[in-house]
Amino acid sequence: MDFRFTQEEEKFRQEIREFLKRELPPDWTGWPVLGEADTDEDWAFCRQMTRKLAERGWLAIGWPKEYGGQGASYIMQIILSEEINYHQSPGMDFMGIGMLGPALMAHGAEEQKRRYLPGIARAEVVWCQGFSEPNAGCDLASLQTRAVETDDCFIANGQKLWTSNAHRADWCFFLARTDPEAPKHKGISFLLVDLKTPGITIRPLVNIANGRSFNEVYFDEVRVPKENLVGQKNRGWQVAQTLLGHERSGIHRIASARRNADLLIEYARETGLGKDPLIKQKLVQLTIEGDIARLLAYRVGWLQTTGQAVEYEASMSRVYGAEYQQRVARVGMQILGLYGQLAKDSKWTKLYGKIEEDYLCSIGATLAAGTSEIQRNIIALRGLDLPRGN
Ligand SMILES: Cc1cc2nc3c(=O)[nH]c(=O)nc-3n(C[C@H](O)[C@H](O)[C@H](O)COP(=O)(O)OP(=O)(O)OC[C@H]3O[C@@H](n4cnc5c(N)ncnc54)[C@H](O)[C@@H]3O)c2cc1C
Repeated sequence: MDFRFTQEEEKFRQEIREFLKRELPPDWTGWPVLGEADTDEDWAFCRQMTRKLAERGWLAIGWPKEYGGQGASYIMQIILSEEINYHQSPGMDFMGIGMLGPALMAHGAEEQKRRYLPGIARAEVVWCQGFSEPNAGCDLASLQTRAVETDDCFIANGQKLWTSNAHRADWCFFLARTDPEAPKHKGISFLLVDLKTPGITIRPLVNIANGRSFNEVYFDEVRVPKENLVGQKNRGWQVAQTLLGHERSGIHRIASARRNADLLIEYARETGLGKDPLIKQKLVQLTIEGDIARLLAYRVGWLQTTGQAVEYEASMSRVYGAEYQQRVARVGMQILGLYGQLAKDSKWTKLYGKIEEDYLCSIGATLAAGTSEIQRNIIALRGLDLPRGN
């Protein structure tokens, strides 16, 4: 086993760092933790960075050339994500590049791939994910949004919940029940819809950090053209599983949390707090965990690069990475003490208010993309071959 990156990979990492140095404002302190853009100005900057990455051919560097990528390895895609997120810069398009793209490549018709993938790679179209519903979260297959097939389209009715970035997105990939009589996993289809289609209403939800990231999305007699069905009718569960596998992969959360851990170490050095043996122990522990989280994420990338199946490994990376993010925030609170509670706009705040923000936002880390309990169930079932619970 060789733990080194190739020369080409190291060179790419260096180029990204130089790009970020040039493109980020000199006083850049980092993007909000959830990656959401609260203001229109933030969103414009986010899109600008995404377009710049696309212009260089980096945004979808790991995708095949015919779909707008560079045909590079998946490891290169992870290096890009790691650097962008370590610098807490906007620019990555996780829903398009990290989730829908790989699912379309695996299950989409050739025409769909040629129609949708280049638009993502060129940073022209923003996607959101309409999976969760008021009564379908962990038990996603209980979803009740209906799509009834007619001559030329599916007519969708129902409600989605926690739809991140729907208020900014152009299109939505979503799951709907197309056969209510079938066993619940077998009557679901995976559909694509333009969010400007009549009958779609998007309502904002405010997140725990008082930011605007989620939405409720309502479908009222929404006509979805038949050619927007991905895979076969009633077989959408398989498409969703592929997509969720990719959603659970990735290094973005880990890299951003690692940056916060490094800031805490710097702070402990500068203030002398690092002399305290308890603080020292906690920071060392975070460093060990940061390395483990990083290796788990690169292992998934290596499996994908070498064309091997990713079974439970994405869930291992996800659960460890999300809990690492929470541990960094918790240690940050312990080290900063009362200062930790101050938001970024307070003149007394430390570390740009990142710890306060991450302490709140990291609560959702072990929920999004499947909760830690669900990830552990997957590892038990697929990794350890343990029987299903009652
Ligand atoms: C930051 C964030 C972003 C999100 N973005 C999106 C998005 O863009 N699109 C989208 O569709 N959804 C999104 N979600 C929703 C997310 O997918 C759901 O929150 C998640 O699937 C859990 O569902 P739930 O919240 O309904 O919890 P529930 O399903 O109600 O679960 C409640 C609790 O019960 C536990 N539990 C449930 N079943 C089991 C079981 N079988 N074994 C053990 N424990 C169990 C859970 O672990 C959890 O602790 C987002 C969530 C967050 C936090």
